[in-house]
Amino acid sequence: MPSALTIFLIAALLCVAMLLMLRYFMRSGIAGIREWALANLLACIAFILYAFGRELPPLLAYEVANGVYAAAAAVMLVGFRRFFARPPRKALLAGAVLALTVAAAFFHYVHDSFDGRSIVVSLFQVGIAVAIAATVLRAIRVKRRSRYPYHYTFVMALVVAGGHLLRVAVHLGQSGDMTSLLQPSPWNLFFTSAGTMALPALTLGAVMMVHDVMLAKAEHAANRDFLTGAWSRRAFFAVADIELTRARRSHRSLSLLLFDVDHFKSINDRLGHAAGDRVLEDAVARAEAVIRNVDYLGRIGGEEFAVLLPETGMEDALAVAERLRASLHVPAEGVTDFSVSIGVALLRDGDSFAELMQRADAALYQAKRGGRNRVEHESA
Ligand code: GH3
Ligand code: MG
Ligand code: MG
Repeated sequence: MPSALTIFLIAALLCVAMLLMLRYFMRSGIAGIREWALANLLACIAFILYAFGRELPPLLAYEVANGVYAAAAAVMLVGFRRFFARPPRKALLAGAVLALTVAAAFFHYVHDSFDGRSIVVSLFQVGIAVAIAATVLRAIRVKRRSRYPYHYTFVMALVVAGGHLLRVAVHLGQSGDMTSLLQPSPWNLFFTSAGTMALPALTLGAVMMVHDVMLAKAEHAANRDFLTGAWSRRAFFAVADIELTRARRSHRSLSLLLFDVDHFKSINDRLGHAAGDRVLEDAVARAEAVIRNVDYLGRIGGEEFAVLLPETGMEDALAVAERLRASLHVPAEGVTDFSVSIGVALLRDGDSFAELMQRADAALYQAKRGGRNRVEHESA
Protein backbone atom coordinates (compact mmCIF):
# COMPACT_ATOMS: atom_id res chain seq x y z
CA MET A 1 0.00 0.00 0.00
CA PRO A 2 1.36 3.44 -0.84
CA SER A 3 1.94 5.77 2.05
CA ALA A 4 0.37 9.21 2.38
CA LEU A 5 3.94 10.59 2.35
CA THR A 6 4.53 9.14 -1.14
CA ILE A 7 1.24 10.61 -2.37
CA PHE A 8 2.14 14.07 -1.06
CA LEU A 9 5.56 13.92 -2.71
CA ILE A 10 4.09 12.84 -6.07
CA ALA A 11 1.54 15.66 -5.79
CA ALA A 12 4.32 18.16 -5.05
CA LEU A 13 6.19 17.02 -8.17
CA LEU A 14 2.99 17.24 -10.24
CA CYS A 15 2.60 20.86 -9.10
CA VAL A 16 6.16 21.54 -10.26
CA ALA A 17 5.28 20.08 -13.67
CA MET A 18 2.16 22.31 -13.80
CA LEU A 19 4.32 25.29 -12.90
CA LEU A 20 6.74 24.57 -15.75
CA MET A 21 3.82 24.21 -18.19
CA LEU A 22 2.23 27.49 -17.03
CA ARG A 23 5.58 29.21 -17.58
CA TYR A 24 5.20 28.50 -21.32
CA PHE A 25 1.74 30.09 -21.44
CA MET A 26 2.79 33.12 -19.41
CA ARG A 27 4.18 34.89 -22.48
CA SER A 28 0.66 35.05 -23.93
CA GLY A 29 0.03 37.83 -21.40
CA ILE A 30 -3.43 36.40 -20.62
CA ALA A 31 -4.70 37.41 -17.17
CA GLY A 32 -4.81 34.75 -14.44
CA ILE A 33 -1.77 32.68 -15.45
CA ARG A 34 0.53 34.27 -12.87
CA GLU A 35 -1.96 33.47 -10.11
CA TRP A 36 -2.39 29.87 -11.26
CA ALA A 37 1.41 29.47 -11.25
CA LEU A 38 1.65 30.96 -7.74
CA ALA A 39 -1.15 28.62 -6.58
CA ASN A 40 0.80 25.58 -7.80
CA LEU A 41 3.96 26.83 -6.10
CA LEU A 42 2.08 27.29 -2.80
CA ALA A 43 0.44 23.86 -3.13
CA CYS A 44 3.84 22.29 -3.80
CA ILE A 45 5.18 23.87 -0.57
CA ALA A 46 2.09 22.77 1.40
CA PHE A 47 2.36 19.17 0.14
CA ILE A 48 6.04 19.00 1.17
CA LEU A 49 5.14 20.34 4.63
CA TYR A 50 2.33 17.75 4.93
CA ALA A 51 4.65 14.97 3.72
CA PHE A 52 7.27 15.64 6.39
CA GLY A 53 4.73 16.45 9.11
CA ARG A 54 6.32 14.01 11.55
CA GLU A 55 9.83 15.42 11.15
CA LEU A 56 8.98 19.14 11.12
CA PRO A 57 8.10 21.39 14.08
CA PRO A 58 4.30 21.30 14.64
CA LEU A 59 3.85 24.98 13.77
CA LEU A 60 5.19 24.26 10.24
CA ALA A 61 3.45 20.91 9.86
CA TYR A 62 0.05 22.13 11.03
CA GLU A 63 -0.62 25.89 10.91
CA VAL A 64 1.79 26.87 8.12
CA ALA A 65 0.89 23.81 6.01
CA ASN A 66 -2.87 24.37 6.37
CA GLY A 67 -2.54 28.13 5.81
CA VAL A 68 -0.36 27.72 2.70
CA TYR A 69 -2.68 25.05 1.25
CA ALA A 70 -5.70 27.31 1.81
CA ALA A 71 -3.80 30.22 0.22
CA ALA A 72 -3.05 28.02 -2.82
CA ALA A 73 -6.78 27.39 -3.35
CA ALA A 74 -7.65 31.07 -2.81
CA VAL A 75 -4.98 32.22 -5.28
CA MET A 76 -6.32 29.67 -7.79
CA LEU A 77 -9.73 31.33 -7.48
CA VAL A 78 -8.15 34.78 -7.94
CA GLY A 79 -6.62 33.43 -11.17
CA PHE A 80 -10.03 32.36 -12.49
CA ARG A 81 -11.58 35.68 -11.51
CA ARG A 82 -8.82 37.64 -13.22
CA PHE A 83 -9.04 35.43 -16.32
CA PHE A 84 -12.74 36.32 -16.64
CA ALA A 85 -12.04 40.01 -15.86
CA ARG A 86 -13.94 39.91 -12.57
CA PRO A 87 -12.82 41.78 -9.42
CA PRO A 88 -10.28 39.48 -7.70
CA ARG A 89 -11.55 40.13 -4.13
CA LYS A 90 -8.03 39.66 -2.71
CA ALA A 91 -8.73 41.25 0.69
CA LEU A 92 -11.80 39.07 1.32
CA LEU A 93 -9.90 35.92 0.37
CA ALA A 94 -6.85 36.87 2.46
CA GLY A 95 -9.20 37.31 5.43
CA ALA A 96 -10.77 33.90 4.75
CA VAL A 97 -7.32 32.23 4.61
CA LEU A 98 -6.37 33.87 7.90
CA ALA A 99 -9.66 32.76 9.53
CA LEU A 100 -9.10 29.20 8.31
CA THR A 101 -5.56 29.19 9.74
CA VAL A 102 -6.85 30.42 13.11
CA ALA A 103 -9.65 27.81 13.12
CA ALA A 104 -7.18 25.03 12.29
CA ALA A 105 -4.87 26.30 15.07
CA PHE A 106 -7.83 26.17 17.47
CA PHE A 107 -8.24 22.45 16.68
CA HIS A 108 -4.54 22.00 17.41
CA TYR A 109 -3.71 24.03 20.53
CA VAL A 110 -7.08 24.57 22.23
CA HIS A 111 -8.96 21.43 21.31
CA ASP A 112 -6.57 19.01 19.61
CA SER A 113 -8.67 17.20 17.02
CA PHE A 114 -7.67 15.81 13.62
CA ASP A 115 -11.38 15.59 12.74
CA GLY A 116 -11.87 19.27 13.60
CA ARG A 117 -8.88 20.34 11.48
CA SER A 118 -9.94 18.16 8.55
CA ILE A 119 -13.49 19.53 8.66
CA VAL A 120 -12.51 23.22 8.66
CA VAL A 121 -9.86 22.69 5.96
CA SER A 122 -12.33 20.82 3.76
CA LEU A 123 -15.16 23.30 4.31
CA PHE A 124 -12.81 26.06 3.18
CA GLN A 125 -11.97 24.05 0.04
CA VAL A 126 -15.70 23.52 -0.64
CA GLY A 127 -16.23 27.30 -0.51
CA ILE A 128 -13.37 27.98 -2.93
CA ALA A 129 -14.37 25.20 -5.34
CA VAL A 130 -17.99 26.43 -5.43
CA ALA A 131 -16.75 29.99 -6.05
CA ILE A 132 -14.61 28.73 -8.96
CA ALA A 133 -17.59 26.82 -10.38
CA ALA A 134 -19.79 29.93 -10.07
CA THR A 135 -17.15 32.13 -11.75
CA VAL A 136 -16.84 29.73 -14.69
CA LEU A 137 -20.62 29.26 -14.93
CA ARG A 138 -21.17 32.99 -15.48
CA ALA A 139 -18.77 32.81 -18.39
CA ILE A 140 -20.21 29.64 -19.96
CA ARG A 141 -23.16 31.60 -21.38
CA VAL A 142 -20.83 33.77 -23.48
CA LYS A 143 -20.59 32.62 -27.09
CA ARG A 144 -17.18 31.03 -27.58
CA ARG A 145 -15.03 29.08 -29.98
CA SER A 146 -15.22 25.95 -27.85
CA ARG A 147 -17.24 25.15 -24.73
CA TYR A 148 -15.31 22.10 -23.55
CA PRO A 149 -12.63 23.85 -21.41
CA TYR A 150 -15.31 25.81 -19.53
CA HIS A 151 -17.59 22.80 -19.00
CA TYR A 152 -14.63 20.69 -17.89
CA THR A 153 -13.49 23.29 -15.33
CA PHE A 154 -17.02 23.83 -14.04
CA VAL A 155 -17.64 20.10 -13.54
CA MET A 156 -14.17 19.54 -12.06
CA ALA A 157 -14.72 22.32 -9.51
CA LEU A 158 -18.01 20.69 -8.48
CA VAL A 159 -16.30 17.30 -8.19
CA VAL A 160 -13.67 18.87 -5.92
CA ALA A 161 -16.41 20.47 -3.79
CA GLY A 162 -18.26 17.12 -3.62
CA GLY A 163 -15.09 15.27 -2.59
CA HIS A 164 -14.42 17.70 0.25
CA LEU A 165 -18.05 17.50 1.40
CA LEU A 166 -17.70 13.72 1.55
CA ARG A 167 -14.56 14.18 3.65
CA VAL A 168 -16.49 16.45 6.02
CA ALA A 169 -19.22 13.81 6.31
CA VAL A 170 -16.71 11.02 6.99
CA HIS A 171 -14.99 13.03 9.72
CA LEU A 172 -18.30 14.02 11.30
CA GLY A 173 -19.35 10.35 11.33
CA GLN A 174 -16.23 8.88 12.89
CA SER A 175 -15.01 9.36 16.41
CA GLY A 176 -11.29 9.86 16.51
CA ASP A 177 -10.21 6.67 14.63
CA MET A 178 -8.06 8.76 12.30
CA THR A 179 -5.53 10.92 14.09
CA SER A 180 -3.22 12.19 11.34
CA LEU A 181 -3.09 12.89 7.61
CA LEU A 182 -0.13 10.53 7.36
CA GLN A 183 -1.93 7.57 8.88
CA PRO A 184 -2.38 4.93 6.13
CA SER A 185 -6.11 4.32 6.63
CA PRO A 186 -8.13 3.66 3.43
CA TRP A 187 -10.16 6.90 3.81
CA ASN A 188 -7.01 8.91 4.45
CA LEU A 189 -5.28 7.48 1.38
CA PHE A 190 -8.38 8.10 -0.73
CA PHE A 191 -8.75 11.69 0.40
CA THR A 192 -5.05 12.54 0.12
CA SER A 193 -4.75 11.06 -3.38
CA ALA A 194 -8.03 12.62 -4.62
CA GLY A 195 -7.49 15.90 -2.76
CA THR A 196 -3.96 16.46 -3.99
CA MET A 197 -5.17 15.97 -7.60
CA ALA A 198 -7.68 18.83 -7.26
CA LEU A 199 -5.33 21.71 -7.98
CA PRO A 200 -3.54 20.05 -10.94
CA ALA A 201 -6.94 19.04 -12.39
CA LEU A 202 -8.22 22.63 -12.14
CA THR A 203 -4.93 23.87 -13.58
CA LEU A 204 -5.52 21.67 -16.65
CA GLY A 205 -8.92 23.32 -17.08
CA ALA A 206 -7.28 26.74 -16.77
CA VAL A 207 -4.66 25.85 -19.38
CA MET A 208 -7.35 24.61 -21.79
CA MET A 209 -9.17 27.92 -21.37
CA VAL A 210 -5.95 29.85 -22.04
CA HIS A 211 -5.37 27.73 -25.14
CA ASP A 212 -8.92 28.46 -26.33
CA VAL A 213 -8.36 32.20 -25.94
CA MET A 214 -5.05 31.98 -27.81
CA LEU A 215 -6.70 30.09 -30.68
CA ALA A 216 -9.57 32.58 -30.78
CA LYS A 217 -7.08 35.47 -30.97
CA ALA A 218 -5.15 33.77 -33.78
CA GLU A 219 -8.37 33.05 -35.69
CA HIS A 220 -9.47 36.63 -35.21
CA ALA A 221 -6.17 37.95 -36.54
CA ALA A 222 -6.35 35.62 -39.54
CA ASN A 223 -9.99 36.27 -40.45
CA ARG A 224 -10.58 39.89 -39.57
CA ASP A 225 -9.73 43.11 -41.29
CA PHE A 226 -7.05 44.81 -39.21
CA LEU A 227 -8.49 48.35 -39.35
CA THR A 228 -12.18 47.74 -38.74
CA GLY A 229 -12.48 44.25 -37.24
CA ALA A 230 -14.99 43.23 -39.94
CA TRP A 231 -14.48 39.84 -41.62
CA SER A 232 -11.66 40.02 -44.18
CA ARG A 233 -12.61 39.62 -47.84
CA ARG A 234 -11.17 36.08 -47.94
CA ALA A 235 -12.90 34.93 -44.73
CA PHE A 236 -16.18 36.60 -45.75
CA PHE A 237 -16.27 34.67 -49.03
CA ALA A 238 -15.51 31.46 -47.11
CA VAL A 239 -18.37 31.91 -44.61
CA ALA A 240 -20.66 33.08 -47.41
CA ASP A 241 -20.06 29.78 -49.22
CA ILE A 242 -21.00 27.83 -46.09
CA GLU A 243 -24.15 29.93 -45.54
CA LEU A 244 -25.15 29.56 -49.20
CA THR A 245 -24.98 25.77 -48.96
CA ARG A 246 -26.89 25.83 -45.67
CA ALA A 247 -29.63 28.10 -47.08
CA ARG A 248 -30.04 25.87 -50.11
CA ARG A 249 -30.21 22.68 -48.05
CA SER A 250 -32.79 24.07 -45.62
CA HIS A 251 -34.77 26.00 -48.29
CA ARG A 252 -34.40 29.23 -46.34
CA SER A 253 -33.84 32.65 -47.83
CA LEU A 254 -30.49 34.41 -47.75
CA SER A 255 -29.96 38.10 -48.48
CA LEU A 256 -26.92 40.19 -49.21
CA LEU A 257 -26.40 43.92 -48.66
CA LEU A 258 -23.52 45.75 -50.29
CA PHE A 259 -22.79 49.19 -48.96
CA ASP A 260 -20.26 51.78 -49.99
CA VAL A 261 -19.34 55.09 -48.35
CA ASP A 262 -20.45 58.05 -50.48
CA HIS A 263 -17.80 60.47 -51.79
CA PHE A 264 -15.20 58.80 -49.61
CA LYS A 265 -12.37 60.03 -51.79
CA SER A 266 -13.36 63.60 -51.03
CA ILE A 267 -13.35 62.86 -47.24
CA ASN A 268 -9.78 61.61 -47.61
CA ASP A 269 -8.82 64.57 -49.75
CA ARG A 270 -10.36 67.19 -47.48
CA LEU A 271 -9.57 65.79 -44.02
CA GLY A 272 -6.76 63.32 -44.58
CA HIS A 273 -6.40 59.57 -44.63
CA ALA A 274 -6.66 59.22 -40.81
CA ALA A 275 -10.10 60.88 -40.80
CA GLY A 276 -11.10 58.51 -43.62
CA ASP A 277 -9.93 55.55 -41.55
CA ARG A 278 -12.03 56.75 -38.63
CA VAL A 279 -15.10 56.82 -40.88
CA LEU A 280 -14.46 53.18 -41.84
CA GLU A 281 -14.02 52.08 -38.20
CA ASP A 282 -17.13 53.98 -37.19
CA ALA A 283 -19.19 52.57 -40.07
CA VAL A 284 -18.34 49.03 -39.01
CA ALA A 285 -18.92 49.67 -35.30
CA ARG A 286 -22.33 51.18 -35.95
CA ALA A 287 -23.29 48.56 -38.55
CA GLU A 288 -22.45 45.79 -36.04
CA ALA A 289 -24.97 47.37 -33.67
CA VAL A 290 -27.70 47.28 -36.32
CA ILE A 291 -27.25 43.68 -37.53
CA ARG A 292 -27.95 40.47 -35.56
CA ASN A 293 -25.05 38.39 -34.25
CA VAL A 294 -25.86 35.63 -36.79
CA ASP A 295 -25.20 38.09 -39.64
CA TYR A 296 -21.76 38.55 -41.20
CA LEU A 297 -20.21 41.91 -41.94
CA GLY A 298 -17.21 41.81 -44.27
CA ARG A 299 -14.89 44.42 -45.72
CA ILE A 300 -14.90 43.65 -49.42
CA GLY A 301 -12.73 46.51 -50.64
CA GLY A 302 -11.43 49.93 -49.53
CA GLU A 303 -14.70 51.56 -48.41
CA GLU A 304 -17.02 48.84 -49.58
CA PHE A 305 -18.68 46.40 -47.19
CA ALA A 306 -21.03 43.42 -47.45
CA VAL A 307 -23.57 42.09 -44.96
CA LEU A 308 -24.82 38.53 -45.31
CA LEU A 309 -28.23 37.96 -43.70
CA PRO A 310 -29.11 34.28 -43.21
CA GLU A 311 -32.80 33.34 -43.07
CA THR A 312 -33.83 36.77 -44.27
CA GLY A 313 -36.19 37.55 -47.17
CA MET A 314 -36.20 40.67 -49.34
CA GLU A 315 -38.68 42.63 -47.24
CA ASP A 316 -36.70 42.18 -44.02
CA ALA A 317 -33.38 42.75 -45.80
CA LEU A 318 -34.67 46.08 -47.13
CA ALA A 319 -35.76 47.05 -43.62
CA VAL A 320 -32.28 46.22 -42.25
CA ALA A 321 -30.68 48.17 -45.10
CA GLU A 322 -32.84 51.20 -44.41
CA ARG A 323 -32.08 51.04 -40.69
CA LEU A 324 -28.36 50.76 -41.50
CA ARG A 325 -28.45 53.71 -43.90
CA ALA A 326 -30.35 55.88 -41.43
CA SER A 327 -28.16 54.99 -38.42
CA LEU A 328 -24.89 55.67 -40.31
CA HIS A 329 -26.19 59.03 -41.50
CA VAL A 330 -26.59 60.32 -37.91
CA PRO A 331 -23.60 62.55 -37.02
CA ALA A 332 -21.26 60.95 -34.47
CA GLU A 333 -18.73 62.59 -32.18
CA GLY A 334 -15.16 62.66 -33.46
CA VAL A 335 -16.15 61.41 -36.92
CA THR A 336 -16.95 63.53 -39.93
CA ASP A 337 -20.50 63.20 -41.28
CA PHE A 338 -20.86 60.63 -44.02
CA SER A 339 -23.51 58.57 -45.76
CA VAL A 340 -23.64 55.19 -47.47
CA SER A 341 -25.46 53.81 -50.48
CA ILE A 342 -26.78 50.26 -50.24
CA GLY A 343 -27.68 47.57 -52.78
CA VAL A 344 -29.76 44.56 -51.75
CA ALA A 345 -30.09 41.17 -53.45
CA LEU A 346 -31.84 37.90 -52.56
CA LEU A 347 -30.46 34.42 -53.24
CA ARG A 348 -32.23 32.70 -56.17
CA ASP A 349 -32.37 29.03 -57.13
CA GLY A 350 -29.18 27.94 -58.81
CA ASP A 351 -27.34 31.15 -57.85
CA SER A 352 -23.63 31.13 -57.22
CA PHE A 353 -22.34 33.55 -54.63
CA ALA A 354 -20.65 35.53 -57.42
CA GLU A 355 -24.04 35.97 -59.15
CA LEU A 356 -25.70 37.10 -55.92
CA MET A 357 -22.85 39.57 -55.39
CA GLN A 358 -23.18 40.85 -58.96
CA ARG A 359 -26.88 41.68 -58.52
CA ALA A 360 -26.24 43.41 -55.18
CA ASP A 361 -23.47 45.39 -56.88
CA ALA A 362 -25.82 46.41 -59.71
CA ALA A 363 -28.36 47.59 -57.11
CA LEU A 364 -25.63 49.54 -55.31
CA TYR A 365 -24.72 51.19 -58.61
CA GLN A 366 -28.39 52.19 -59.02
CA ALA A 367 -28.35 53.71 -55.52
CA LYS A 368 -25.26 55.74 -56.42
CA ARG A 369 -26.81 56.90 -59.69
CA GLY A 370 -30.05 57.75 -57.95
CA GLY A 371 -28.28 60.34 -55.80
CA ARG A 372 -26.50 58.32 -53.03
CA ASN A 373 -27.49 57.97 -49.33
CA ARG A 374 -30.23 55.54 -50.39
CA VAL A 375 -31.18 51.86 -50.62
CA GLU A 376 -31.97 50.04 -53.88
CA HIS A 377 -32.85 46.41 -54.47
CA GLU A 378 -32.05 44.22 -57.45
CA SER A 379 -34.38 44.43 -60.39
CA ALA A 380 -36.64 41.39 -60.87
P1 GH3 B 1 -18.70 57.11 -54.45
O1 GH3 B 1 -19.63 58.01 -53.71
O2 GH3 B 1 -19.08 56.95 -55.87
O3 GH3 B 1 -18.55 55.80 -53.75
O4 GH3 B 1 -17.29 57.85 -54.47
P2 GH3 B 1 -16.04 57.54 -53.59
O5 GH3 B 1 -15.18 58.75 -53.54
O6 GH3 B 1 -16.47 57.00 -52.27
O7 GH3 B 1 -15.38 56.33 -54.37
P3 GH3 B 1 -13.93 56.12 -54.98
O8 GH3 B 1 -13.92 54.69 -55.38
O9 GH3 B 1 -13.63 57.14 -56.03
O10 GH3 B 1 -12.92 56.34 -53.79
C1 GH3 B 1 -12.66 55.42 -52.82
C2 GH3 B 1 -11.46 55.89 -52.03
O11 GH3 B 1 -11.25 55.09 -50.89
C3 GH3 B 1 -10.19 55.83 -52.82
C4 GH3 B 1 -9.16 55.20 -51.87
O12 GH3 B 1 -8.00 55.96 -51.78
C5 GH3 B 1 -9.88 55.24 -50.54
N1 GH3 B 1 -9.49 54.13 -49.64
C6 GH3 B 1 -9.41 52.82 -49.89
N2 GH3 B 1 -9.05 52.13 -48.78
C7 GH3 B 1 -8.87 53.04 -47.79
C8 GH3 B 1 -8.50 52.96 -46.41
O13 GH3 B 1 -8.24 51.89 -45.83
N3 GH3 B 1 -8.43 54.12 -45.69
C9 GH3 B 1 -8.72 55.32 -46.26
N4 GH3 B 1 -8.64 56.41 -45.50
N5 GH3 B 1 -9.05 55.43 -47.57
C10 GH3 B 1 -9.14 54.31 -48.32
MG1 MG C 1 -17.49 55.18 -52.16
MG1 MG D 1 -16.09 52.10 -53.61
